[in-house]
Amino acid sequence: MRVSKLFTKTSKNIPAGEIAKNAQLLIRAGFISKVMSGVYVYSPLGLRVLEKIKQIIREEMDAVGGQELIMSSLQKKETWDITGRWDDKVVDMWFKSKLKDGTDVGFAWSHEEAIIEMLKDYLASYKDLPINVYQFQTKFRNELRSKSGIMRGREFVMKDMYSCSKDEQQHTQFYNDTIDAYNRVFERLGLKDDTYMTFASGGAFTQFSHEFQTICDAGEDTIYLHRGKNIAINEDVMDDENLSKLGINRDELEKVKTAEVGNIFNFGTKKSEDTDFSFTDSDGTKKFVYFGSYGIGVTRLMGVMVEKFSDEKGLVWPENISPYKIYLLRIGGDEATTHADGLYKELTDKGFEVLYDDRDIHPGQKFADSELIGIPYRVTVSDRMLENNQYELVERKNGEKIVLTREQLLAKLG
Ligand code: ATP
Ligand code: MG
Repeated sequence: MRVSKLFTKTSKNIPAGEIAKNAQLLIRAGFISKVMSGVYVYSPLGLRVLEKIKQIIREEMDAVGGQELIMSSLQKKETWDITGRWDDKVVDMWFKSKLKDGTDVGFAWSHEEAIIEMLKDYLASYKDLPINVYQFQTKFRNELRSKSGIMRGREFVMKDMYSCSKDEQQHTQFYNDTIDAYNRVFERLGLKDDTYMTFASGGAFTQFSHEFQTICDAGEDTIYLHRGKNIAINEDVMDDENLSKLGINRDELEKVKTAEVGNIFNFGTKKSEDTDFSFTDSDGTKKFVYFGSYGIGVTRLMGVMVEKFSDEKGLVWPENISPYKIYLLRIGGDEATTHADGLYKELTDKGFEVLYDDRDIHPGQKFADSELIGIPYRVTVSDRMLENNQYELVERKNGEKIVLTREQLLAKLG
């Protein structure tokens, strides 16, 4: 991609009232733009990051047997009446509207009830189980406060997976496989060391639910961490009774600010009983489905990564989610242009993702933009260096600079 063709521009200005570092940086670098508090556009650069995060999650959900689908964003009132969750007093963040004929519709804030309703059409016998489905969906939530940039959206992308199993063993197996899959996702995103599976409230069937909490100053949650035993507990459920259940003492715990990047709920058969979601077992009797629900906040994760992977100059993307691998920067006249155009073609032909700064602007502005946008490798082609067949390669994350010949450069970029 040529920077001269990219419709977004970097900017020094941030919208008034945008206080979150993640949104400020992403807006300045041209990855997102703000519509209103908690509502953002993902521009081409931002979309590439989002898609790469999604792809990592997708691969890990597929690996445990998840089947991808997309549910609808408009939902029926009846779907939620069954569990009482259409009621605004029960769920306080609904966006709702009406069809022309007056029929109620809601904008999906979750898909638990909707998935069950849809799967009822397909589930008859124990032979149909397990069924594990997931999606990447825009969720709509009328959040009271949205001050954390893309970490708390009023519309945001979630990966939600749902598991349906015939018995407790099949259910537990999948639940544990998914914990492993989540750990692999966070490892691939470079967040493993800072992400803790945390005991939290909200277990419908079990004592606790499990949240995945990433240490992050901009996060909205607080957890207590036992680094030695690798146990974490959300402050919401921190009391003497729960501490003794977990076999930990208050004075051994460290208080840390975190962001909830994912959570998993083990409903057992509770949700299926509430919604009459059943099948015929091998002995001919009716049984309720064991149900699990597994979320990851995809756009929130992107925000967390910006909070953690950035410095005073701008964004610092890890290679596997960066929108491009190489920022090719040209300085000088015809000679540099010919060489840089050639190198751009050669690199893209070889399959490298290259953002080519071919603009005729002051070099200082180009360098500043390359640092703000945060692509891992910057290659500079200049008239002066070309006299000696030299190219400069700078690594964004540590500023390390090396001067190479064209052959060495190509070998180095792998
Ligand atoms: P929170 O406690 O942060 O409000 P939640 O417990 O309501 O989240 P779920 O409904 O289980 O979250 O959603 C699954 C995941 O979606 C969460 O773990 C979080 O990462 C993400 N998420 C939830 N709400 C938002 C939001 N408003 N903006 C961005 N991501 C969100
Ligand atoms: Mg929560």
